[in-house]
Amino acid sequence: MVIVAAGSGTRLGAGGPKALAEVAGRPMVAWSVAAAAAAEAMVIATPPGHEVEIAAACGAGPRVVSGGDSRSRSVANALAAVATDLVLVHDAARPLVTAGLFAALEAGLRADPHVDGLVAAAPVADTLKRAGEDLAVAETVSRDGLWAIQTPQAFRTEVLRRALDVPDAVLAAATDDAALVEAAGGTVRIHPYYEPNLKITTAADMRLAEALLG
Ligand code: C5P
Repeated sequence: MVIVAAGSGTRLGAGGPKALAEVAGRPMVAWSVAAAAAAEAMVIATPPGHEVEIAAACGAGPRVVSGGDSRSRSVANALAAVATDLVLVHDAARPLVTAGLFAALEAGLRADPHVDGLVAAAPVADTLKRAGEDLAVAETVSRDGLWAIQTPQAFRTEVLRRALDVPDAVLAAATDDAALVEAAGGTVRIHPYYEPNLKITTAADMRLAEALLG
């Protein structure tokens, strides 16, 4: 189990790492750590210089490693400390994750030998339009078959390790790990998930998470 918590939290304006911002009485990262308590081993990528605070927020179990300049670099750093055959990767920025979702992804990947990765996702509900910088709508995009991809994402560890073995610029451009596995020729499937699993980016997201977790 890898939890990436090395983001700066600039957009949240919490005045420190987002993972340490308090949500409903706990540091944000501690919600994901609690949901992952059954994991065989847990590695947390932290913002460099905040290792001690993150370790204190997460209790004795998890191993803490320094994150990198990009999210995928942080995943790669953490993956170096993973010894299990399957690995779940989760963003600390999604504190509503549940033990049940982690378990479902791991079981789903174990059950399907033809798949390298299984990712939690929700069907896109909004109408999608493409617009230019002037905000003039150029087209309406069909949402048929479109999914909003979340974490956790489960992978065969060696497949993910190989997919992450690319130049830093490629890592920096990736918005999720599955994209790197796909680019490396791996097979990824969606695990439909209909419960709230929002990613905290702004102060408004934080208020919503507080209401759901409090
Ligand atoms: O910045 P964003 O919210 O997209 O980050 C998603 C997740 O990746 C967060 O949990 C954040 O802590 C983590 N991250 C990281 N290392 C970075 C950037 C983001 O671990 N360099």
